[in-house]
Amino acid sequence: MEKTLPLIDSHAHLSLFPKEELENILQRAKEKNIERIINVCIDLPALEQGLFLIQKHPWISLAAALTPHDALKEREASFFSKAAEEKKLVAIGETGLDYHHHSASKESQKKLLIQTLHFAESKALPLIFHCRDAFRDLFEITKSELSSSRALLHCFTGTKEEAKEALKRGWSISFSGILSFAKNDLLKEVAAFVPLDRILIETDAPYLAPNPYRGKRNEPAYLFEVAKALALLRKESIETIATATTKNTCSFFSLKSISSQP
Ligand SMILES: [Zn+2]
Repeated sequence: MEKTLPLIDSHAHLSLFPKEELENILQRAKEKNIERIINVCIDLPALEQGLFLIQKHPWISLAAALTPHDALKEREASFFSKAAEEKKLVAIGETGLDYHHHSASKESQKKLLIQTLHFAESKALPLIFHCRDAFRDLFEITKSELSSSRALLHCFTGTKEEAKEALKRGWSISFSGILSFAKNDLLKEVAAFVPLDRILIETDAPYLAPNPYRGKRNEPAYLFEVAKALALLRKESIETIATATTKNTCSFFSLKSISSQP
């Protein structure tokens, strides 16, 4: 595996790895010059684990998602508020709508989304959106319920029109290892079209391992393959991609680049 300028993994789920393997996984990421990881905590236990992790690894940052409950449980709500107020979170998410996997009813997904939008705005934090087959509703709801433009569409798999609409709203777009898969011409076209200053990259580990690791468990160390795929289809150098995405990610999450510090 090649090494490049520092990269930032804008989306990984570190709580989904076996605990005893995590230190090795982080070590391998460091060896591949991953200078930061945004650890997306999908529930309360993941956030609790994440809060421990960042004490030892200040190069890891946390985003956290409110999880579906009819009414957000009190303990959870106060825990999230506290983490946000103590500046332990750099974003709220992932949140959004997924009509592809049908994990919950559309109505309950929309309800949670609206609740999450309001929560993020009350904490002045940016949002990470997950959206599958639901852009119409996501755009409609955010139009009326979200005043901030600080939003990121993670693991983007939408159309060019959907990307255009997101860009118009000032949102950023993150691409995953899906870009490295052979048959994906439409998505590659979108990734070539989005202005470079609005692009972030991610692994979404442990899911979606890029080629040549497809089918295996993904990890942040493989982020280089995403950068490489993006560079290839945009006909830009990997250095250009690394510099731009690191800058964009720092700016989106209000982080300092570790590598560019004196
Ligand atoms: Zn994710």
